[in-house]
Amino acid sequence: MPIRLHNTLTRRLEELRPIVAGKVTMYNCGPTVYSSPHIGNFRSFLFADVLRRFLEDQGLEVRQVMNITDVGHLTLDDVEGGEDKMEAASKKTGRTAWEIAAHYIGEFEECQRELAVRRPHEMPRATDFIAAMGAIIGDLLQKGVAYQVNGNVYFEIAKFPAYGQLSGKVLDELEEGARVAVNDEKKDPRDFALWKVDSKHQMQWDAPFAGGARGFPGWHIECSAMSMHYLGDEIDIHTGGEDNVFPHHECEIAQSEAHSGRPFVRLWLHARHLLVDNTKMSKSLGNFFTVRDILARGYTGLELRFALVRAHYRQTLNFTLKGLDEARAAIARVQQARARLVRVRDGAETAGGDDLAAAIAAAGQGFTAAMSDDLNVSEALAAVFEFVGACNRASPSAAAATAALAAFARFEDVLGCFGGEPVADATDAAPAELLELLVQRTAAKQAKDWATADALRDRIAAAGWKIVDTPAGPRLEPA
Ligand SMILES: [Zn+2]
Repeated sequence: MPIRLHNTLTRRLEELRPIVAGKVTMYNCGPTVYSSPHIGNFRSFLFADVLRRFLEDQGLEVRQVMNITDVGHLTLDDVEGGEDKMEAASKKTGRTAWEIAAHYIGEFEECQRELAVRRPHEMPRATDFIAAMGAIIGDLLQKGVAYQVNGNVYFEIAKFPAYGQLSGKVLDELEEGARVAVNDEKKDPRDFALWKVDSKHQMQWDAPFAGGARGFPGWHIECSAMSMHYLGDEIDIHTGGEDNVFPHHECEIAQSEAHSGRPFVRLWLHARHLLVDNTKMSKSLGNFFTVRDILARGYTGLELRFALVRAHYRQTLNFTLKGLDEARAAIARVQQARARLVRVRDGAETAGGDDLAAAIAAAGQGFTAAMSDDLNVSEALAAVFEFVGACNRASPSAAAATAALAAFARFEDVLGCFGGEPVADATDAAPAELLELLVQRTAAKQAKDWATADALRDRIAAAGWKIVDTPAGPRLEPA
């Protein structure tokens, strides 16, 4: 089945046709390591992770590179104003920019593990690629598309007519925005920095290009250098959050293509922002959550992962704590169905005669079709939960249970938010109809319909079972 993805550059769905058949090169703009990663950052990283997992599921060999920005990202990057985020954090804490980078790289990697993110094949640090950036800057100077003033090097956008195509920003609009930051050195206010001279900057290097002055790189050139180093001049997929479209990715295209003379990226994919309680997340509003904040509230990494990947990546996701509770119940529902199948497969629960073949085929096809349609995770989840219902209603044979478990293992391999196959436990062999009652009770509780919730609990109790709340959600145990 062809995989279609929405290309920000052309504003339409396009079929993924890898440059080299069977292989996909993918670059993801990674974190700037000056503070704790927040849930908005991870929505974008998890989108990239699920995309990679699905491409691998479809038999493609993926090479994934995610950079770590540890220098050059300014606090007002859209107008090249403010100060380096690393330097600002250093002033606030009294630690060096290098110490801050090391600390938050560690925290980022810990969050990746908590959220079951498959580690990218390469996670290069910008500060390790100064020479590669210098090679591109030197070439752009030589070609006359960049110029140097007082040691600062700027890209001259008048020399790159396609500038503005990705973001769709018209030139007047760009000029208006750029004027906010007055910089007399630039020939055009929209020109952007490739190299900056600042004698006070903690992270500085001798110019890595001929005739330059000591300084540090601009943010955009970092990603061009690291992408080209690992993946070549032209790659299949480049992802980021929607705030990366302009200016970051617009500038990446200009400098990369002016340098190589080739198209930089085939497909540009961008994840939308998330809202928290229908409001933009901000520290001043008190609705700002880091990954650690959520874990500290007792939610698991998988529950957070589920809550962040469940909506389509191009739709605004409204994140709420209630959504995390729903994630908990949804994961429990899948795991309970799998646990029963394990018991049937292993003979701990009596097997029936249902072969489940039609349900397994429908679920697999529905899942693949949804994921191939611009990574529609919400539709794919609908297929998974329809399958859960079919399994719970059936009385499967041992062979059917084995086949159904294989289907669940595949869904988990792609989405990564349910956890591994549950361990069979004969003492936990709640009948399927009681598991369905438990699901209904969880839904009733979420809807604050206490009368229904109590009635369902009583029915479960009458059958000799009790409800136990666990970190993975409610489960049934013999009373
Ligand atoms: Zn980037």
